[in-house]
Amino acid sequence: MKKEQDSPEDLLLALPKGRVADEVLPLLRAAGIEPEAEFGRPGSRKLRFTTNVPGLEIIRVRSFDVATFVAFGAAQLGVAGSDVLMEFDYQEVYAPLDLRVARCRLVVAEPAELASSDDPDRWSHIRVATKYPEICRRHFAARGVQAECIKLNGAMELAPGLRLCRRIVDVVDTGRTLQANGLVEVEHIADCSARLIVNRSALKTRPESLGLWIERLRKVVDGA
Ligand code: AMP
Repeated sequence: MKKEQDSPEDLLLALPKGRVADEVLPLLRAAGIEPEAEFGRPGSRKLRFTTNVPGLEIIRVRSFDVATFVAFGAAQLGVAGSDVLMEFDYQEVYAPLDLRVARCRLVVAEPAELASSDDPDRWSHIRVATKYPEICRRHFAARGVQAECIKLNGAMELAPGLRLCRRIVDVVDTGRTLQANGLVEVEHIADCSARLIVNRSALKTRPESLGLWIERLRKVVDGA
């Protein structure tokens, strides 16, 4: 049954869809959080789920939106990739714990035939397609390269073949997606993994209830 209103004591945990959630769920379970069955049902349209813990609910949102919900205090807790946290750099988001799952690397990639004669040290002006325009701007500015960043929300790997740009910046895990699209990594920007995130104001006003989950998850991650 749906509640009329949230109690100020209730906690909301924002989880992303897809790969990160799949790898984080076993950690949540080990820490004692079991979402209602609907959470795991493929094709479910529900966005908000109860758990076995009274007063703790889960919302499922896009990975970039997890950081936004937590930054504005709409959710007190969340799980976000460090790539997403680097992109937004929200002051209100505190990331106390590396969950050490959903590991990937943020890289610059380009078509294999271009890479065979390309030297990243000689770039002066490049155009890249990316989900991460802020990271790109900072990364290339720091190494003196003028970068024109075209924001896409997915399927970056298509961009070079369609001449939108010659290079992309994206996260890579196995490298299979790059390979399937004729691209190769030419520059490493950062190693990334899933982080537990907390709203800073909520942590100040509710240190015990939020601290309990941070510590429980820390013990799971440390294998204690
Ligand atoms: P892969 O083919 O294993 O290298 O995976 C690459 C694809 O999966 C790309 O479309 C990435 O955007 C996405 N991806 C891989 N790892 C992650 C991750 N940890 N978080 C979010 N997206 C990821």
